[in-house]
Amino acid sequence: MDAERDLPGDRWAGGGYGFETLAIHAGQDPDPATGAVIVPIYQTSTYAQSDVGEHRGYEYSRSGNPTRTALETCLAALEAGRTGLTFASGLAAEDCLLRTVTGPGGHVLVPDDAYGGTYRLFARVLARWGVEHTPVPLGDLDRVRAAMRPETSLIWCETPTNPLLAVADIAALAAIAHEAGARLAVDNTFASPYLQQPLAWGADIVVHSTTKYLGGHSDVVGGALVTSDTGLAEELAYHQNAMGAVPGPFDSWLVLRGAKTLGVRMDRHCANAARVVELLTGHPAVAAVLYPGLPDHPGHAVASRQMSGYGGMVSFRLAGGEAAALEVCRRTRLFTLGESLGGVESLIEHPARMTHASVAGSQLEVPADLVRLSVGIETADDLLADLDEALAGG
Ligand SMILES: *Cc1c(COP(=O)(O)O)cnc(C)c1O
Repeated sequence: MDAERDLPGDRWAGGGYGFETLAIHAGQDPDPATGAVIVPIYQTSTYAQSDVGEHRGYEYSRSGNPTRTALETCLAALEAGRTGLTFASGLAAEDCLLRTVTGPGGHVLVPDDAYGGTYRLFARVLARWGVEHTPVPLGDLDRVRAAMRPETSLIWCETPTNPLLAVADIAALAAIAHEAGARLAVDNTFASPYLQQPLAWGADIVVHSTTKYLGGHSDVVGGALVTSDTGLAEELAYHQNAMGAVPGPFDSWLVLRGAKTLGVRMDRHCANAARVVELLTGHPAVAAVLYPGLPDHPGHAVASRQMSGYGGMVSFRLAGGEAAALEVCRRTRLFTLGESLGGVESLIEHPARMTHASVAGSQLEVPADLVRLSVGIETADDLLADLDEALAGG
């Protein structure tokens, strides 16, 4: 870490501000030109120079754009990191990270229930480029240690995982990675920085699909990386510009607007999810409920330590098998049948046939009787009534 340099996240990180204050103000000073309270959408590709090579910090919008800068500063502050970088999607962020920290002949560990798109990137794209990956249950630290090789440069962690909601111990994984000279990346999409800050537990890089809770309104696709490692940040920024998968000004603005209310939304997502879990637990049609907030969840103790809430994602298995799972997905009305998660509206999906179809037949295959809910912030009683009715026919 280079303590001398003033990085965008530093001003806010050192200010002693609370999370919601950072979400609303970090990187978002009133516009110096007009006093506009909200960061403008700088819908421009290029910037006037006062003389050859003389500019005010912006030359071309792939390399930098003021709306994007505001978002990157805000996200760095929310993850208590020094540098934030944003991308056109979560997978674009992952691709930039992986092609920065691995290369031909390299090796990475991935969770054995990683997000399907992440697994596809490893198995179908990076594998062709000569990067090997080993799927491991990250909750089993002995197996993680045993899977490390001399050429392992990264442990990829998701916690909680999608869609099985397994929990991994970030501090323990960071220790294993660092002992071996590797890095730990944590995909923090499910928890959001409001519930979990991986850098504080020793992770080197945080990854987000801002499409989900950070954006929060199902109206934009985006991704982000946050790190406090200055050297790594410089390499990532170089690749961000060289590879070019940046978000546009309007998409940056949408995520920035969503992030302002992340705290209040997450509180309600958590409260509504707890009510849904209560309904599902003990329901005769339900064989198992997967939620880290349940005391009998294998990751409950770790989740209680490293998260400040258990989140809005709930998965459950149907006693009636796949047919019952498909039937419940068909029957809900408020829970919209659809992929994605983290928006204000509730969604339901069948991972085996939808989000995780790309891992069918692999070690990461998910059970066919599994249903995943993204519990939104509608009136809880309405959500419970909707689920109850759908389960009655499932
Ligand atoms: C959606 C998602 C991604 C991929 O992000 P995109 O914005 O869809 O590219 C990565 N990780 C997790 C956990 C996700 O849910």
